Amino acid sequence: AELYGLEDWGGGYFGVSEQGTVVAYPHGSPEHAIDLHEVVRGLEARDLQPPVVLRFDDILAHRMGHLRRAFDDAIAEAEYQGRYTCVYPIKVNQQRHLCEEIRDVGRTLGFGLEAGSKPELIAGLALTEGHNDMLFVCNGFKDEEFIETVILAAKMGRNILPVVEQTHELDLIARSAERHDVTPRFGVRAKLASGGVGRWAGSAGFRGKFGLSVSQILAAVDQLREQELLDGLQMLHCHIGSQIYDIRTLKYAVSELTHLYVELVKLGAPMGVLDLGGGLGVDYDGSQSARDSSINYTLEEYASDIVHRVKAICDDADVAHPHIVTESGRALVSHSGVLVFQVLGSRTFPDEPDQALVKRALEQDSDETPQPLLDLVDAWERLQDGADPGEVYHDAEHALSEAVSLFSLGYMDITCRAATEEIYWAIGMRLLAEEGDDLPEDFADLPDRLGDIYFSNFSLFQSLIDAWGIDQIFPIMPIHRLDERPDRRGTLADITCDSDGKVDRFPGAAEPETTLPLHRLRKGGDGGPAGEYEPYYLAVFLTGAYQETLGDLHNLFGDTHAVHVVANGDGGWSLDEVVEGDTVREVLRFVQFSPDDMRRALRKEIESAVASKHLTLREAVRMRRFLDDGLDGYTYLE
Ligand code: PLP
Repeated sequence: AELYGLEDWGGGYFGVSEQGTVVAYPHGSPEHAIDLHEVVRGLEARDLQPPVVLRFDDILAHRMGHLRRAFDDAIAEAEYQGRYTCVYPIKVNQQRHLCEEIRDVGRTLGFGLEAGSKPELIAGLALTEGHNDMLFVCNGFKDEEFIETVILAAKMGRNILPVVEQTHELDLIARSAERHDVTPRFGVRAKLASGGVGRWAGSAGFRGKFGLSVSQILAAVDQLREQELLDGLQMLHCHIGSQIYDIRTLKYAVSELTHLYVELVKLGAPMGVLDLGGGLGVDYDGSQSARDSSINYTLEEYASDIVHRVKAICDDADVAHPHIVTESGRALVSHSGVLVFQVLGSRTFPDEPDQALVKRALEQDSDETPQPLLDLVDAWERLQDGADPGEVYHDAEHALSEAVSLFSLGYMDITCRAATEEIYWAIGMRLLAEEGDDLPEDFADLPDRLGDIYFSNFSLFQSLIDAWGIDQIFPIMPIHRLDERPDRRGTLADITCDSDGKVDRFPGAAEPETTLPLHRLRKGGDGGPAGEYEPYYLAVFLTGAYQETLGDLHNLFGDTHAVHVVANGDGGWSLDEVVEGDTVREVLRFVQFSPDDMRRALRKEIESAVASKHLTLREAVRMRRFLDDGLDGYTYLE
């Protein structure tokens, strides 16, 4: 566990059992632990093969409770007179089961929802049906239909607040209100000068994509007063970007927004709600530092900073404390999602050259043996006699580059080329083994060049898109064999036909590690996708936010299975929900193929191959079965 920093990034939700397996602590403490390896084996017994997303609803509920407590404590401690509500932004993970869980737990905690598009608006309306008091904030670009739906929902008794992001939305609100004879309630999004940080810095600042500048807000107040709609302006909103990693950025934004809030009250707007948007980050690499994949503050500090700052500014201006809203999604759902996949095999460089190959190369034409091969053989022998591995490696590098030149000019055959590579790699591996972590500067890139590649049954583009799109670091580790010290290091390659489909950045203390400690694959497979190897499972943690729906169908690898795992009181676990992943048939339909037409055409071709005796009847049956099973099967290797 220490090797992988699990305690640093796990947030108290994961640990390692005495059997060397990873366990989840769904309630944030060791009782009711769920063994992830046992769950995966149990899923396989139910014919649900990895890759699979394990969702822990109890972790989600625990995170929600934690956020609630952090604000409740800050409010009590500061004697703050307003309330706090978190509205969950549906876009962070729109999966229905997860949203329903958030709705159900959220109801008891006084939380609400946030939508940023028409589909999310409709999903949110359906989710909050029967829960009229749940706050529902609507951001994003809006047309007349969007606004009218919101106005009518409010008329039906919903606690729904549209946020004006563009000035023309004010006209849409005014028109709709007149048409339906209501006094609308709405908010306005401010474009703050305090910029965000990191990747989402563009969400804020004067050139931000969203919101109204201060001068536009001032003009809006005048317009609203003229239209006798100023009473509707009840909320001020901002969002300075996701994953705010430095608490100082938040402090500046809260101050600026609260001062703006106070000014709006002074101008006669009723206000009442201050929505600070998202931004509450997650410590993906466990370093607790102000860098992209980490955060330098706790949940408690976040809540306390907001509450104290808003209170101080309002008190100074003699303005009533507003109802504070945040739109935290990432921080609520990240911990509850774990992606598990199986390693299919590995590419490892040899510790020893293949002696039979070297002998064959040397013997095939001993008068003409290329010099670089002789040099490499000599280098390897010197290494056996105790020569300095660094010095030998330098010689080997030189000999290899000469060998490649000879080969490219046609002066070296394939056997000699193969033998030179084998010896060169073995020398590098020896240097790595002997110098370990104390590699001289000269050889700093050796671990990357000679690290293993573990081929893994998942698609980075479908399941871990941020690792590709924005270089985000996720914690990854084996979920079993942790009672054995891993003696290899490697990167991961997915099964897409794309060289970008790899993971080569992992949590590291000072900076990201480029390889991950991994166990040697063991022979003795059970016929699964890893063939001759025993199953070896890796998990990517903290994947609950954004990864599930931002991903795409690259190479037509579809959605993975997702299961909701809950702890039973008796120390066991059970599946609350099973959401099966896409079948081949489904992903083909997404790209407008008609699986039935394809099947018909291919069956016809098989039949004519039988008629022309290219296939036997037996072979034709096998081919047909493959097509039928394939169409209804999982898109990943089984
Ligand atoms: N609110 C708005 C308006 C957003 O654009 C976003 C995401 O960027 C969020 C909330 C969610 O923020 P976070 O990812 O920090 O939870």
